[in-house]
Amino acid sequence: MEEISCIFCQIANGNAQAKIVYQDNDVIAFLDINPLAPGHTLVIPKKHIQNVFEMDDDLLHHIFTVAKQIAENMRKNLGAEGVNFLQSNGEAAEQSVFHFHLHIIPRWKNDGLDFTEYSRTKIKKMRNEELEKIAKIIEIKSDKETRSEEEIYSIKRELEIG
Ligand code: AMP
Ligand code: ZN
Repeated sequence: MEEISCIFCQIANGNAQAKIVYQDNDVIAFLDINPLAPGHTLVIPKKHIQNVFEMDDDLLHHIFTVAKQIAENMRKNLGAEGVNFLQSNGEAAEQSVFHFHLHIIPRWKNDGLDFTEYSRTKIKKMRNEELEKIAKIIEIKSDKETRSEEEIYSIKRELEIG
């Protein structure tokens, strides 16, 4: 069964570690382990679905609704000036993990990323504690339970974001 060896199934089942930003019965969002920018997040279905061609429309709609909320948190709380959604299907499209995932990549003017020359060698690696802090800033919380501006400001200063 490919689900057993699939790293994203393991994350969805709680059998592999990840910095989780959101989850419900059908969907889970977590930080990319090798981020293109601080806060780079992946949204996936919990069920093993290889790519968009196998995806149920309602589930796809749900994934994009979650992605939009995370993008809004990146703009509001992380100070992102723009956001890229990236989603690869199949080897030819350079998909490397064959469990559907939607990348949410926060962007800043002059952030050094160049999607016309897509290169992972430019990526700044992040330590575990840094990933943890970013996850705290952009996680989806209930209306009642919001993070204070001071807390967000101090985390951003520590991580030199924005
Ligand atoms: P793609 O090339 O579009 O298939 O993207 C796969 C993404 O999954 C890459 O950006 C990887 O950094 C990311 N990735 C792989 N393994 C993990 C993991 N265990 N936790 C978080 N992200 C991962
Ligand atoms: Zn899977």
